[in-house]
Amino acid sequence: MLEVQDLHVTFTTYGGTVKAVRGVDLYVNEGETLAIVGESGCGKSVTSNAIMRLIPSPPGKITRGMIRFKGEDLVSLSEKAMRNIRGVDISMIFQDPMTALNPTLTIGTQLMEGLYEHQKVTGQEAKRRALEMMDLVGIPNPEERLKQYPHQFSGGMRQRIVIAIALICEPELLIADEPTTALDVTIQAQILELFEKIQKQTGVSIILITHDLGVVAKIADRIAVMYAGKIVEVGTKREIFYQPEHPYTKGLLRSVPRLDLKGGKLAAIEGTPPDLFSPPEGCPFAARCAYAMEVCTHVHPVKTSLSPSHQVDCWLQDERAKKLLATSSPK
Ligand code: SF4
Repeated sequence: MLEVQDLHVTFTTYGGTVKAVRGVDLYVNEGETLAIVGESGCGKSVTSNAIMRLIPSPPGKITRGMIRFKGEDLVSLSEKAMRNIRGVDISMIFQDPMTALNPTLTIGTQLMEGLYEHQKVTGQEAKRRALEMMDLVGIPNPEERLKQYPHQFSGGMRQRIVIAIALICEPELLIADEPTTALDVTIQAQILELFEKIQKQTGVSIILITHDLGVVAKIADRIAVMYAGKIVEVGTKREIFYQPEHPYTKGLLRSVPRLDLKGGKLAAIEGTPPDLFSPPEGCPFAARCAYAMEVCTHVHPVKTSLSPSHQVDCWLQDERAKKLLATSSPK
């Protein structure tokens, strides 16, 4: 359904050009959930905004690459054509439900706005669809609630409304950017269950942007791990959780709190990500990697396929490195 190839996004600032996304390749199949995980600033939100063509220009720019959605390259579409795709074929849910909703308009008006904008519907039909969506996302007393304003809803309920607005035009792809970060843990679990239910009922594909591996473990089918503007490892949920190969992915997994391990400190990944004003020519993780070799700082690793669904960018997968490691221990 969606294929992104060699996507590059830059931001021009007074201090220089930030290379925020540096050659991202990914795809999303029909009805699946792809999670994009990584630290803040790794380029995951910029990637999703680029898919929606929501990169503010200036200062941002898609400098290279292709975003193919149902056979059409979104990068070359006019803004007018993109407006017909946004909210209709591809919808987005943002992190903070309060800022995503207009506090001056009723929930009903905000729910039906997209329908009036993109589909020729009567008032009666729009209301019927709005009530259906309220029911789908689990809002009780929908007739009554349609007339209320965002401040009359709790945080979790507001996020349900945002999801309903995103789904009302029946998009084929839903991009959810940290959809549970602003919610407390019990509400997070309910929203994740809601995503699962919606996907089962509607067949919508989902790109889930998150730094929370707990969220990923619950609903992702495949996982792309991003670091310094690149996808460094991608695989099925099982491959990433049980057979991670990139040292960064392993570090992320080690940093997740576990109930079965008592005492001790959480394992942090030492160091900080590289400066994206002048990213390193070699592996971007080299300065933090316990396995870094001479080649890592000079040459970017080639992509290695470990299975049809599992790829990793790391010199450790090179046969020559494997021989070297067999005879020496990591630094
Ligand atoms: Fe570490 Fe080298 Fe692999 Fe990068 S390419 S993750 S520095 S071993």
